[in-house]
Amino acid sequence: MKRTDVLVVGAGLGGLSASMFLAIEGADVLTVERHPGTSLHPRASGQTPRTMELYRFAGIDDEVLGVSERASRGLRVTVASSLRGQVFHRVVEDLGEIDLSTATTAPWGMAGQDVVEPILLERARKAGADVRFSTELVSFEQDADGVTAVLSDGETVRASYLVAADGGRSRIREALGIAATGVGAIGHSVGVVFDADLGDHLQADVTDLYYLQNAEFTGALVNTDIPGRYVFAVDLHPERGETLADFPEERLTGLIRAGTDLPGLEPRIRWTGAWEMAARIAERFSAGRVFLVGDAAKVTPPTGGMGGNTAVGDGHDIAWKLAAVLRGDAGPALLDSYEAERKPIAEMVVATSLHNARERMLPGLDLSGTPEPVDPLALTLGFRYRSGAALADDEDRLENPLEPSGRPGFRAPHLPTAAGSTGDFLGRGWVVFAAGGWRDAVEAVRAETGIALEHRERGTDFDDPGDVFGLGADGASLVRPDGIVAWRGSSEDRAGTLWDVLARVLGR
Ligand SMILES: Cc1cc2nc3c(=O)[nH]c(=O)nc-3n(C[C@H](O)[C@H](O)[C@H](O)COP(=O)(O)OP(=O)(O)OC[C@H]3O[C@@H](n4cnc5c(N)ncnc54)[C@H](O)[C@@H]3O)c2cc1C
Repeated sequence: MKRTDVLVVGAGLGGLSASMFLAIEGADVLTVERHPGTSLHPRASGQTPRTMELYRFAGIDDEVLGVSERASRGLRVTVASSLRGQVFHRVVEDLGEIDLSTATTAPWGMAGQDVVEPILLERARKAGADVRFSTELVSFEQDADGVTAVLSDGETVRASYLVAADGGRSRIREALGIAATGVGAIGHSVGVVFDADLGDHLQADVTDLYYLQNAEFTGALVNTDIPGRYVFAVDLHPERGETLADFPEERLTGLIRAGTDLPGLEPRIRWTGAWEMAARIAERFSAGRVFLVGDAAKVTPPTGGMGGNTAVGDGHDIAWKLAAVLRGDAGPALLDSYEAERKPIAEMVVATSLHNARERMLPGLDLSGTPEPVDPLALTLGFRYRSGAALADDEDRLENPLEPSGRPGFRAPHLPTAAGSTGDFLGRGWVVFAAGGWRDAVEAVRAETGIALEHRERGTDFDDPGDVFGLGADGASLVRPDGIVAWRGSSEDRAGTLWDVLARVLGR
């Protein structure tokens, strides 16, 4: 029987992120994916600056930026009757217009899933992850000490933990009896990846996304990282008995011609598939030793581009926490913070994406009972975790990330340093940003616990004239491996306080 620390099922953005960060953190990981390789479809395109921060922790941010011709050059989102028809609404003109320098040094990225997944895969393998394609999880059972899983190649695996990154129709979630509830399906579409010469009808150097609404169909058209390749989607109506078979190549060609206003266009269709646009959140994000990640935990409409980004966020979150428990740095209670922190994010993402869907594609969508949307920038960089591992001391759930407060639960402020940014100190362990006098305490706690704990001193390692970190005269801010402030305060007994706080947030 094969033994491993963590078995990850699914090698999409969620599973590959979990595998990569687990392996980087030193855990033994086996990842299985039933498809023969990574995604051929660009699917979830676009990286938020938060995703780019996480990719920077893994050292792949430059590669992800470089792989896309359109990276960071902007985004244009238009609602129109067709490519050259009536423009109803410009939703986004250019993301680059917002100056994020007080929030982060990480840029937006625009790369598609098809070009990002191979980068994650290579980095995961380089760090030691065993990733097997054409291999399916057939069954699993868990007990108090671990999970036993049977794979389609006949191998039995015994793992301490199972990460279910098996997508929106997660069989693992179903087997655990965890319901996924919410608005449900709001539409179905046929997706088409095609090659054609659209000339300059779409702006080649930015992601140029059109939501199309006309008498013939509702759909979308967007360019990809590969010049001359496009993704087109058109609505499908299963309630009228329609299936993918009702969209043969001739019909799709006609629809693409109508959507582009290019009657003579000869698109070469490379891929077609049916896709359900839905909003559902799992009632629990874990059961015992099994953790749901990405679409397995929540499915969100693509309007807003948050499905892939939150899958990466989930993957990173569960990875550093599982690795900390496996190393003995943390107790199992740390794992309770996974759902406490990631489910509220999923709820805000789903609500905001649903409102976007109504604005951009489905004007008749009934959203009574759905929470109000939240500001996308706050959701991206100004979100707050509140759990046993992030000791938030007031009720705010979001803040304006351009004016960071340094309060526990929020991302630590990113201030300029001589070499770059305080953000450069993050992602390799725990960091104490301190106003002076904490060095001995940090060294004592590191020596006693063996936990990777760095000390960064105001005035030496970074300047903070406006006291954005909120350290006062002699305080400290304890920042987690994911760049979130776990605790902030001051004390006479510095080593004792630091030790108590770490023990509390790590569930030791
Ligand atoms: C056709 C399509 C188009 C999409 N378009 C967009 C878009 O435009 N914008 C957007 O934001 N999002 C889009 N999405 C959703 C987006 O891809 C996901 O939100 C994102 O990839 C989440 O990643 P994930 O890893 O959670 O799930 P997935 O990427 O779905 O990965 C799950 C993986 O698990 C594998 N798997 C399942 N069961 C097993 C098993 N038993 N054993 C082994 N492997 C298994 C699957 O083969 C799959 O590769 C699209 C999805 C699809 C399918």
